[in-house]
Amino acid sequence: MRRPWVGGNWKMNGLRADHEALLAGLQPLAQMTAVDLAVVPPAPYLAEISAQLAGSSLRVLAQTVSGHAAGAYTGEWSAAMLQDCGVAGALVGHSERRQYQHEGDAVVAAQFRALREAGLQPVLCVGETLAEREAGETLAVVSRQLLAVLESQGPEAFDHAVLAYEPVWAIGTGLTATPEQAQAVHASLRAVVAVFDASRAEALRIAYGGSVKAANAAGLFAMPDIDGALVGGASLDANEFLAICAAAQARVTG
Ligand code: PEP
Repeated sequence: MRRPWVGGNWKMNGLRADHEALLAGLQPLAQMTAVDLAVVPPAPYLAEISAQLAGSSLRVLAQTVSGHAAGAYTGEWSAAMLQDCGVAGALVGHSERRQYQHEGDAVVAAQFRALREAGLQPVLCVGETLAEREAGETLAVVSRQLLAVLESQGPEAFDHAVLAYEPVWAIGTGLTATPEQAQAVHASLRAVVAVFDASRAEALRIAYGGSVKAANAAGLFAMPDIDGALVGGASLDANEFLAICAAAQARVTG
């Protein structure tokens, strides 16, 4: 059984006082030792929250990172800077970055590589738009996004990474993929990795993201290839996030 992974992507929400209140409400997470847990705060707070959570089981990830090592890239930050600030890794390829910052597969692959080179954990997000799903292109799109990393960096690049399937039409919309829809895509993604390396494919954690909440988490986690969740909106509510993490823990402990 793969160890579940749950991350809370706070996106561009909350000020210091809101984050403090949220983290105080998340203290029961310390008891959930069967799950890998992460929060993904806005960039200005990363160093401070990393220092605050040092020694706890809750890891801190960034929402993005530059694929460049250093230099004239105003407004960006490198993987080495994240590492220096105690941050454990970063999301790459989130659909909001692909859509609003026009980050394509090559940029995402460079970000993924930069994180690995700094010894940090990449969380690679892939997902199709509604138009792509309706055109029957879901598997072609998510495979292309995955292969952009897999073909250039090899299956070993995923040894400490997490893959997150996030259908764009389900992010922040209240629409969730059914457990069966998500399972089908997760199984296909695992099969793509298995072409390169069967045992690494079996070990890879594939989290689902897209309007996950306490009410639908257990149904998703009941699926054999859904190993956790990347949670946006519901991660801003401590009780909702705790309930989602408890459902992931129950996947292992029963
Ligand atoms: C996300 O931001 O990655 C996400 C899945 O958001 P939400 O849970 O709000 O759909």
